[in-house]
Amino acid sequence: MPVDNDIGLFFRSLATPAWDRFDQVPKVVAVTGSNGKSTTTALIHHILQVAGRPTQMAGNIGRGVFDIDPPGEAEVVVLELSSYQTELARALTPDVAVFTNLSPDHLDRHGGMGGYFAAKRRLFAEGGPDRAVIGVDEVEGRFLANQVSEGPEDDRVIRISSGQKLDTGGWAVFARKGFLTEWRRGQQVAAIDLREMKGLPGAHNHQNACAAYAACRTLGVAPRLIEQALHDFQGLPHRSQLVGERGGVRFVNDSKATNVDSAAKALQAFPKIRWIAGGLGKDGGLSGIEPFLGAVVKAYLIGHSARDFALQIGETPHEICETMERAVTRAAEEAQAGETVLLAPAAASFDQYPNFEKRGEDFTARVKALIG
Ligand code: ADP
Repeated sequence: MPVDNDIGLFFRSLATPAWDRFDQVPKVVAVTGSNGKSTTTALIHHILQVAGRPTQMAGNIGRGVFDIDPPGEAEVVVLELSSYQTELARALTPDVAVFTNLSPDHLDRHGGMGGYFAAKRRLFAEGGPDRAVIGVDEVEGRFLANQVSEGPEDDRVIRISSGQKLDTGGWAVFARKGFLTEWRRGQQVAAIDLREMKGLPGAHNHQNACAAYAACRTLGVAPRLIEQALHDFQGLPHRSQLVGERGGVRFVNDSKATNVDSAAKALQAFPKIRWIAGGLGKDGGLSGIEPFLGAVVKAYLIGHSARDFALQIGETPHEICETMERAVTRAAEEAQAGETVLLAPAAASFDQYPNFEKRGEDFTARVKALIG
């Protein structure tokens, strides 16, 4: 018997005879990548709502694909897909596929980086999406973009980057120094200042903004409407979420930073950081974090990996706190105006919590109790 998962069954059963009556059939946007999937998915959904387009969001974010209502006229279904889901699905036929970025995660399951990339890549397989939005900041993304497109000018592929200027002659959206720019066939189409977007701090969120922007452009949403939507996007809980401020000190919950890459991104998003980290460390612990410790004033280490992390961060001032309660109390006591107390654990939560949400809620509750 063929075996399939919910995502495969969803794609196979999506189009129904009722679609014959539509002037514009529903479309599916699917988002994959190592980090930023949820933020990008939620952002696309939000932009479409602001643009007045019927839309539903599902997949690895909140609602399962079988729980959505049958999509109606011109509706856009936005799906977040994890590598676990794309690995197994027998049908993967989104109209727009988005690949945010690639960093090592879940390697144990996929048999190393090659298997992990292959699981994500399946979304772009031959005969695949009408449009592909691909982050090209890593070699895998560049490889994928080159493989999917017929050449640099093929505008079925939109290349996105956070940091690089992309002028390939094709279609590209990139963010540099806080500005998002869209280029198409050698012409600048639009530019947006991202620095004031409160729900999207840091270069990693600018990458998400580029991905969401590009996906919505393929659906015909105007840059002006996207800009408006980016302004009032609130961000998702547990992802660089501002939970309070006292005496010029910001408290930010990034409990979802469960690996080194996402924690490194959070460490680059704020200037002077009192860093709460630790939990159940992944393979390699904190290795790779060194270049991003410059903004850390002091680390407050919790959980199972506290001592290992302390060894790995070497000269950076730190204190073993064991618990969230102590870490928040100590960081808040020592923080000066202009600094940020940041929870970005670079580790899983399962040693002390059932999941990262509970860890983020604990942090938030303790901050609220302290600052009122
Ligand atoms: P995912 O659904 O892929 O896990 P999220 O949007 O939930 O992505 O974010 C997961 C973590 O990664 C958070 O800590 C967040 O701050 C960080 N992050 C978000 N976007 C990016 C990005 N584009 N690159 C790297 N890290 C990111």
